[in-house]
Amino acid sequence: MTVGQLAIANGDDASISALALDRWLAAGAGERVALTFVGPDLRTDPWTWHRLAAEAERFASMFAAAGIGKGDGIFTLLGRVPALYLTALAAWRRRAVFSSLFASFGPQPIATRLHRGHACALVTTADLYRRKIAAIRDSLPALRDVFLIDGEAAGCQSLASALAAVEGAPPAVAAAADAETPAFVHFTSGTTGAPKGAVHVHGAATAMAESARLVLGYAPAAKVWCTADPGWITGVAYGLIAPLVTGASAIIDEGDFEIGRWYQLIARHRVESWYTSPTALRMLMRGGVELPRQYDLSSLRIVASVGEPLNPEVVRWGEAAFGLSIRDTWWQTETGSILIANGWNETVVPGALGYPLPGIDAAIVERLPSGAVAEIVAPTDIGELAIRRPWPGMFRGFLDDPERTAQAFAGDWYLTGDLARRDAAGRFRFVGRADDIISSAGHRIGPFEVESALMEHPSVAEAGVVGVPDPLIGERVKAFVVLKPGYEGTPELERGLLALARRRLGPTLAPREITFMPALPKTRSGKILRRVLKCRELGLPEGDLSTLETAEPG
Ligand code: AMP
Repeated sequence: MTVGQLAIANGDDASISALALDRWLAAGAGERVALTFVGPDLRTDPWTWHRLAAEAERFASMFAAAGIGKGDGIFTLLGRVPALYLTALAAWRRRAVFSSLFASFGPQPIATRLHRGHACALVTTADLYRRKIAAIRDSLPALRDVFLIDGEAAGCQSLASALAAVEGAPPAVAAAADAETPAFVHFTSGTTGAPKGAVHVHGAATAMAESARLVLGYAPAAKVWCTADPGWITGVAYGLIAPLVTGASAIIDEGDFEIGRWYQLIARHRVESWYTSPTALRMLMRGGVELPRQYDLSSLRIVASVGEPLNPEVVRWGEAAFGLSIRDTWWQTETGSILIANGWNETVVPGALGYPLPGIDAAIVERLPSGAVAEIVAPTDIGELAIRRPWPGMFRGFLDDPERTAQAFAGDWYLTGDLARRDAAGRFRFVGRADDIISSAGHRIGPFEVESALMEHPSVAEAGVVGVPDPLIGERVKAFVVLKPGYEGTPELERGLLALARRRLGPTLAPREITFMPALPKTRSGKILRRVLKCRELGLPEGDLSTLETAEPG
């Protein structure tokens, strides 16, 4: 078996592809099932390590033939289909930099990310290309190669033909990768400016695997299902990298969320570790405790959640429905792997995030006028959650943006932008965001991106976008709009604006409602006070969002 080993020009290979593929082939595990894709019709497509490595090698040869190699940006705009995962593995084999975009994004967020990520290759479908890329292609001169996994479109190549053209070619030689070689970029939203590309290195795979073993129980041959889409870092870290590096056997569901389907998947595939989101769990909770009892869910050992506050009542429902306490886990795009988790070293305490993982030094801090931070030691005092650098999975910076990278740190502390506190037992508890970031169905949405899309309408003078509490999806995106003179805030205009935003941004980022206003509240320097908008919307005293805390006191 020559896959992988021959492809390395020299030196030790610390790449994700070596850890995820070659090591298992060398260990004789090639015929074990690594990934099982479940189609929309529930048909299963098992991929052994052998098949995965051989196909990833073909993809790598295809990229090599196109002249794509170390440091180049390879993007996917796909659903959870094999080509997405093979592109990632091949990108790592080529030492290229992989980025996956949500297929639900609209043309605007896609263009921004392709441009900022220096994409030179994209793998997508003919339909997505026609609907979302064709019109913006001219604005992306660096995007040389677009490979379509189906159909045809002008200016694109067929993936199948490009793969056939390299059939029988010797393995593409790649430079050795060390742990610090950039491997992937995930875009994440700030409150101002364009989304930032957090750069992660090959070495982050070790942190993902270690945390998955400790918190999620990933182990060789363990059946695991991380429901996150790879458009979100969770889907790449715990849906692809951690399962392959730990030797687990992962389920990848190409279908959409549906209550019965999800229980059926767990039962049929004997899922042992299930990593999902509070929004999904709240939707399942609507089905009560009787529905899950109709399925054989006895294989489940660990249920864990990430991305938004996990309501204590969901934990209690989980206990009744599955006989398991759902483990909350905390991390973010920049941290690269789970840093704080509930239940990995003690019983689950509902409403708490739990304790930092071994080697992680987390603290609650306050920012001082000098720019430094001071640690808050008194329990129950709210401050910003900070992590002492370095830690293995830490992002290595924001792409092309040293200034914003520097702003994320104060001395040795990385400032997360989350407000938290510690309880008397030292557990961390999530309080909210310290900034205007919106958290909707697990998506981190930057209001600036949404406001910019609304501003494109000729009627809009100004827009302020906030998240308002929603019992199901955490927060829903709401826009406050000031119209230009001569325009009237009619229901028809509202519908037009909502439709424009949906077309430009896609359903995930687009606002669900709009309120027209004569003026927006602003600071003296003219910055929109989104927090004031939010307080007014909620009927709270202005500036007081503390009552939004979701966790139970403890
Ligand atoms: P992202 O970088 O898109 O993964 O979003 C990270 C953000 O999601 C964090 O900064 C938090 O605001 C939020 N988040 C992640 N995990 C949790 C959690 N367990 N509880 C509450 N909020 C969370």
